[in-house]
Amino acid sequence: MPQKTKETPMMQQYLDMKDEYPDAFLFYRVGDFYEMFYDDAVKGSQILELTLTSRNKKADDSIPMCGVPHKAVQSYIDILVDKGYKVAICDQLENPQDADGMVKRGITRVVTPGTVMDESANQATENNYITAIGHVKDQFGLAYADLSTGEVKVTVVNNSIDLINELQNLNTKECVVFNDLSKKYLEPIQKIGILISTIEEIDNNFDYDFSNISDDLEVSTVKILISYLIETQMRSLDHLKPAETYETTAYLSMDHTAQSNLELFKNLRTNKKSGTLLWLLDETKTAMGGRLLKQWLSRPLISQNTLEHRQHIVDVFLQNYFQRSSFQDYLTKVYDLERLAGRIAYGTVNGRDLVQLKTSLEQVPMIKQILLDIGDYDLDSYVEKIDDVNDVYSLIDKAISDEPPISVTGGGLIKQGYNEQLDKYIDASKNGKQWMASLRAKEQEVTGISNLKIGYNKVFGYYIEVTKSNVDKVPEGRYQRKQTLTNAERYITPELKEKESLILEAEEKSQALEYHLFDEIRTKIKQQIRRIQNLANILSQLDVLQSFAVVSETYHYVKPTFTKGHELKIVNGRHPVVEKVLSNNSYIPNDVTFDSNTDILLITGPNMSGKSTYMRQMALTVIMGQVGCFVPAEKAELPIFDHIFTRIGAADDLISGDSTFMVEMREANDALKNATENSLIIFDEIGRGTATYDGMALAQAIIEYIDKNVKAMTMFSTHYHELTELESQLPGVKNVHVDASEENGTLVFLHKVLPGPADKSYGIHVAKLAGLPNEVLTRADTILSSLEDTAPKEIKVEPTNSVEQETKSIKISEPEPESQLSLFPELEQKPKAKLNKGEQKVVN
Ligand code: ADP
Repeated sequence: MPQKTKETPMMQQYLDMKDEYPDAFLFYRVGDFYEMFYDDAVKGSQILELTLTSRNKKADDSIPMCGVPHKAVQSYIDILVDKGYKVAICDQLENPQDADGMVKRGITRVVTPGTVMDESANQATENNYITAIGHVKDQFGLAYADLSTGEVKVTVVNNSIDLINELQNLNTKECVVFNDLSKKYLEPIQKIGILISTIEEIDNNFDYDFSNISDDLEVSTVKILISYLIETQMRSLDHLKPAETYETTAYLSMDHTAQSNLELFKNLRTNKKSGTLLWLLDETKTAMGGRLLKQWLSRPLISQNTLEHRQHIVDVFLQNYFQRSSFQDYLTKVYDLERLAGRIAYGTVNGRDLVQLKTSLEQVPMIKQILLDIGDYDLDSYVEKIDDVNDVYSLIDKAISDEPPISVTGGGLIKQGYNEQLDKYIDASKNGKQWMASLRAKEQEVTGISNLKIGYNKVFGYYIEVTKSNVDKVPEGRYQRKQTLTNAERYITPELKEKESLILEAEEKSQALEYHLFDEIRTKIKQQIRRIQNLANILSQLDVLQSFAVVSETYHYVKPTFTKGHELKIVNGRHPVVEKVLSNNSYIPNDVTFDSNTDILLITGPNMSGKSTYMRQMALTVIMGQVGCFVPAEKAELPIFDHIFTRIGAADDLISGDSTFMVEMREANDALKNATENSLIIFDEIGRGTATYDGMALAQAIIEYIDKNVKAMTMFSTHYHELTELESQLPGVKNVHVDASEENGTLVFLHKVLPGPADKSYGIHVAKLAGLPNEVLTRADTILSSLEDTAPKEIKVEPTNSVEQETKSIKISEPEPESQLSLFPELEQKPKAKLNKGEQKVVN
């Protein structure tokens, strides 16, 4: 940093401010521009593609500088924040003309990735969470807030892996920590692209409702979060709801990899919403409903009562088509009440926002009525909780004009009849304007100039305009010339000016009064924010439930029943997303059955036959069931799962930089250690990331371990055909296979799951389908026959319940070659693991 002593007073002021916000771009207001200096200017000019100039160009110590026009500042802020930077806005706090010496300036807000409130449409369906971490011994507090909706939640997690997981699931862009948090915890967080913001001091003096949380760690974590919000936002945070605690174990847990592998929110190939479970289920009518649906999907429930309650309402919406569709029509007219409440708290709400609020509230009595008409006891309990906030509706209806301008200072906001004084001012200016109109007729008559006009502009005010050809008729003494144009002359008269000042005074006063009244109304509404938020909460729940009803009806889903025991039965189940994408009903439904003795379904079948789809279908069905939606099947009896573990697809680990195979083993380890008998494990071709013997040995050992110790419901697909022998040795293992048939030397996929093992390896046929040269295919055939001819290799299998060595033998053949063929590439997202030499060491 440059020496401060030599600086001009303005640069001194700049540097003092920059000192306070070293990690933000400082936008320093000078006249009509926000300027950046020094390093900010150099870096900012590159990122924002601005011209880099300098202050004191000629001096030796010229200062790099670049600027953006104040009117366009928001778009530049957005670019920087979107790239993960912070921006501190320094404004002029007084009119430069009134300044006595240096203009007073101050930071008016700090925009950061976690606190930005993006109004653009595609952001409306996403929450933007800012998170904070507190730390005591080996526990972490994790708090998060969405500044635009006011939601605040907090939990405690017991290790740093769970912490990272939760941060990833929340998709947070910024995480606040107190300055004592060790680097070893921060680095992995930074590695996944989350901006760390540090606070030096915890504010203890703010007014906030902590009554719902009692745990010390949770309280201190929320304090870290709110201290930071106070520091950066510098305005009312009244809309923040009281913090609520949540337990990660009170939900069906899925780690971030599971959520991403199952494509709940993001299509792995396109990174978009299309093709995901969220995309399929989202028939919500409001932005708040859309956000809530996403929250529900990331935290499915484990409470049977609540689930059955949700199911019941879905059923009610399904049975009452007429009422449901009018409910939807009303919902469509409800704006984003949560975000409106946020703007009201911030004081940034304008007339149009209030009209949106009014329109939304206007729907509520109708919504209540239509729901009551259904006459369902459970639904009525929702309706009873709906407060139509009628007082706010009436206030806006009475006070705010129906089509107010965006600006809140230029008048036109307040309805006639709301305030007597205002009406007088408005009358005065209106009368004045009428007088002007009659003046025209009068002057035309007196002067005989038929095209004489009265006009107005900002510089001269009201004037009389006469075209050049009529100038000789102008009464010289009475008219005073003011301006000459090419074709006309403009005049004023004392009478005109007198009336003008009356009109202008009335206008000025009325605008000031309007702003004052508007501000008063805003403040009144602000006191009702909590009620608006509660209304938003109930409407968004009902919105999601009606959305479930729509989807369930459209795709013929069925209400699952929940079983207590260790059994599961899905009849004619379908993969909801693949089914939707496939044309003309071509999806082949399949059963899934776990009876009380079965822990593991061992799934075999050629590549591309549908193994992975079958397993994903099961996981998605479970998730849909546990958010209260109906499921894609003819009949479904499901236990309530506590955890879904997945090992699908392959991805290198961003945090540790581990290889694909290492990730695979770590995920397997996670499942084996943490799964309970109420968990669902999905292992897709585990072990294929390493050499055949390694892989098969590991796969078998894992199956044995699950069967003996874990007893979680497990779907295990494998290309090691030999493993199917395990069915006869391990009581919990059951073979199923995805059927395919061979016709005239080509392979036909039937996508039908049948009992028993697959009888043949179809690898070479798949290769043929993929169009490999004939020469390769013939040669592969020959090699295969010779491999099959050689003596079978044997491995020992440890019997599950006897220490004595009773060895069984399994014949090993080489795994089938991989196919690159995809019949539905838009849905395929299963990069198969490649073996690197180094990776083998991990297990050797
Ligand atoms: P595998 O895991 O056996 O290699 P996938 O599950 O990836 O096979 O399925 C391969 C393709 O088959 C997918 O693109 C999918 O669209 C299609 N498919 C899978 N199951 C079915 C089904 N039940 N009905 C229709 N098409 C299916």
